[in-house]
Amino acid sequence: MSNSAKLHEEAQKYTPGGVHTSIRNVDPFLVFTKAEGAYIYDADGNKYIDYQAAFGPFILGHNHPYVNGKVIEALGRTDLYGVGCTDLEVELARKITTHVPSAEQVLFCNSGSEATYHAIRLSRAVTGRTKLIKFQGCYHGWHDYVARNMLSAWDKIGTRDPGSAGMMDEAIDNTLVCTYNDLDDVERTLKANKGEVAALIVEPIPHNIGCIMPQPGFLQGLRDLCDAHGTLLIFDEVITGFRHNIGGFQKVAGVTPDLTTMGKAMANGFPIAAVAGKKPYMSRFNTQPGGDVWFAGTYNGHAVGTAASIATIEMMENEPVHEHIFRLGERMRTEIRGILDRLGIEAFVAGFGSVWTTYFMSFEPRNYTDLQYNDAQFYVTYRKKLIEKGIFKMPMNIKRNHISYSHTDKEVDITLEAVEAVLTEMSR
Ligand code: PLP
Repeated sequence: MSNSAKLHEEAQKYTPGGVHTSIRNVDPFLVFTKAEGAYIYDADGNKYIDYQAAFGPFILGHNHPYVNGKVIEALGRTDLYGVGCTDLEVELARKITTHVPSAEQVLFCNSGSEATYHAIRLSRAVTGRTKLIKFQGCYHGWHDYVARNMLSAWDKIGTRDPGSAGMMDEAIDNTLVCTYNDLDDVERTLKANKGEVAALIVEPIPHNIGCIMPQPGFLQGLRDLCDAHGTLLIFDEVITGFRHNIGGFQKVAGVTPDLTTMGKAMANGFPIAAVAGKKPYMSRFNTQPGGDVWFAGTYNGHAVGTAASIATIEMMENEPVHEHIFRLGERMRTEIRGILDRLGIEAFVAGFGSVWTTYFMSFEPRNYTDLQYNDAQFYVTYRKKLIEKGIFKMPMNIKRNHISYSHTDKEVDITLEAVEAVLTEMSR
């Protein structure tokens, strides 16, 4: 029995499934003991090039010396206080409001789910409305406002599909679901619920279903429709923020939302998230005297997350982080396309910047419904076989891969060799 299997067996005695977040319980089950740069190591001494990046935070690579150094330095002098604020919080807030176009003001919390919860509640307070629009396939966290119609079974698309037992009916029913890249659907939904929709929340690129790109004009179209209907536009940049640009994907798209949520890559794996937006909206939070929208959290602004985030952003300010990861991303996509073409395998390699997904289907998917044509079995087998070759990708359907600043051409070479070997074997 492998060390991973033994530890998994023991973990299940104390913890349901032996894991602490829902989709970590996958086959092959691995217990990890070490992480460094582009590599992760399991309890049996196997080494993997990591592209899963813990679902996205690792933009600089695991255990990054500059970020870790800054965290240790901060902890040598400070930690967390029940009143006032820290110098680190001020510095980080200054950086975020400088870089992110929609961020006139910002508040820190600990997870992306908290950030989306706060943004949605704020939108209800600002508009006096109740309903929310999200898109089928997009993920915005585990709470009742948003946990519906995520990775729905194909026959559940277009139906009421709560992601969890125990959710409040009112929350499920007040969240309306539209099709990504379909402005007509959004317009129809806004008109049918005239004066009732507080906010529309969107992953500017729905990375929770790989890498579906917004079609030209889609994000601007959402901006225009929200303006026309008095609905707040929330960009959930928990994945795209800092990964695709220091100013978020909103900077790339040239579309400024009313509110933005951020997390993951903002602190290279340390726990911190943020909600940001226009000042008149943000000033409704009760962190300010007179504010009437509750915002709180014992650990908000902890020195660990704030120091890590400052250091991560400093790396982006001072080193060619995006230039490097974008170049490697482009190389990976182009060369994987070449391999697929040579082998005559029908596939679409999608991606942006440092992120890519190989869909085994014949056309570019534009929304969740299109992904029915992705050959899920082939996709999952491909990813499992890559793990056997030391290339770690989440062995599940429709997951994306991330390149970090610690990956180099050497890791890309090794990966492409493995991709070619696995696809050759699978195409026989
Ligand atoms: N929003 C998006 C776009 C996400 O991808 C995630 C997590 O994957 C969340 C929100 C929730 O973030 P967290 O897991 O930190 O609560």
